[in-house]
Amino acid sequence: MQIFTTIPGLRTFLADYRPDHSIALVPTMGALHKGHASLIRRAVTEAEVTVVSIFVNPLQFSPTEDFSRYPRTFESDRQLCESLGVAAIFAPSAETLGIGDSEEITAVVPPISLTSGLCGAFRPGHFQGVATIVTRLFNIIAPTIAYFGEKDAQQLAIIRQLVRDLNLAIEIRACATVRETSGLAVSSRNQYLSATEREKATIIAQSLQLALESFRLGERQREKLLAIVQKNLDRVPEFRCQYLDLVHPQSLQPIEQIETGGLLAIAGSIGQTRLIDNIILRQRRAVIAIDGPAGAGKSTVTRLVAEKLGLTYLDTGAMYRAVTWLVVNSGLDLSAEAAIAELLSLAKIAIIPADNPENVTIVKINGQDVTLEIRSPAITAQVSRIAAQKAVRQQLVTLQRQLGMSGGIVVEGRDIGTNVFPEAELKIFLTATPEERARRRLKDLEAQGNGGISLAELTQEIEKRDYLDSNRSLAPLRKATDAIEVNTDHLSITEVTEKIIALYHLNQGNLGR
Ligand code: AMP
Repeated sequence: MQIFTTIPGLRTFLADYRPDHSIALVPTMGALHKGHASLIRRAVTEAEVTVVSIFVNPLQFSPTEDFSRYPRTFESDRQLCESLGVAAIFAPSAETLGIGDSEEITAVVPPISLTSGLCGAFRPGHFQGVATIVTRLFNIIAPTIAYFGEKDAQQLAIIRQLVRDLNLAIEIRACATVRETSGLAVSSRNQYLSATEREKATIIAQSLQLALESFRLGERQREKLLAIVQKNLDRVPEFRCQYLDLVHPQSLQPIEQIETGGLLAIAGSIGQTRLIDNIILRQRRAVIAIDGPAGAGKSTVTRLVAEKLGLTYLDTGAMYRAVTWLVVNSGLDLSAEAAIAELLSLAKIAIIPADNPENVTIVKINGQDVTLEIRSPAITAQVSRIAAQKAVRQQLVTLQRQLGMSGGIVVEGRDIGTNVFPEAELKIFLTATPEERARRRLKDLEAQGNGGISLAELTQEIEKRDYLDSNRSLAPLRKATDAIEVNTDHLSITEVTEKIIALYHLNQGNLGR
């Protein structure tokens, strides 16, 4: 692992990896704990190179806050990063980030609607300070993906907006809040708490949990949910509540009733320590993401799981076929990536998923029904060339997310759980040994009268494909850190389907993560 304190050092190090390798950034203020570790673990799994930045950002502390006493534990941070497989730590000085003594700096000002409520109301200038430094880190590192914790939900919403508004080509991934067994959200500031205060602080998570239980029983009204939390918080007078609010998770505006999702957020102090916590109350049916190597039976199993659970099968393959049809019919050269990106951006693709197993996904392009045409051999022959294009992939991932936003879908691929639906309620990684997949393939080939290839040759082919799929720069095959691996070696398709359905039922209580 390398440690850089200067921009030229880090940039030169990263230059070797561009443009073929994905670079992850985990921005932190150090004093790393298991919350940070969960972000880092995900980054290391999902990207090829992980940079952890450590910078206690003076711009996000007001003069009355704890900047000077904020914990600084570089040596143990270094050890943790090294043990987790981080490629580089970036630990710049304030001067390096251009915010030395001068107050004359270019600031990034997030929209007031996002900064005026919740913590922003009590920490003037805080989110401007965060946005200014995070933008600098983004520009210095130019990561492919950046990881942020849901614990800082307002920060997360602001960073997402920043990336959209400044057209940064960075994928923001959110990680669930890591908690102590007592429920207390892990935080660098927890070390300020005495043993008694730490115990008292559990009231925050406990109150959120009560609201979650009530939400699961059907409560959707702001007044009721807030009253439940407030009543419970009142049991611990040492907790001085600063705010308690129910807002929309993206717009951060207060909501009267939860329609699709609500962010229930609390901040307050115990002794001298300010603590925040939140919970997302999400009302949607599950998203089941099924990833795994080619030939593990993903598409058959995915369709069956959707059918048996009455969920929608989201046919991502149909989307790539639709784009291929669009390109072929436009007369464009299949390698004209820029023109294809432009064409696709201007096109209207409607995907109407099947609502019963006998139906196929209806696909319309610019109003024209192309459901049947996209299945023609001419399109089949070209799909993989189109699917390998970055801009196509990005636009279709956006479309997939829109279609899956309200849940109730089962979807398969190589990076569905890691990239497309990282917040999926159930993630399955379907595998089988290369030998077993070769055996199945040989059986299929023989049934079609196409034998003549040996099991050993097929196994080798499959191993080669696995390697390529896991190492491709675009949408590589990855097992999400929270995916459940299902090895199908000695299982029939029915058994695999049943196993996934059982996991789904086990997971049903897990709505608001
Ligand atoms: P900080 O060092 O406090 O600026 O945090 C760095 C990143 O770690 C931010 O994206 C935080 O949201 C995230 N983080 C902090 N605590 C936790 C936690 N308990 N669980 C998950 N993520 C966290």
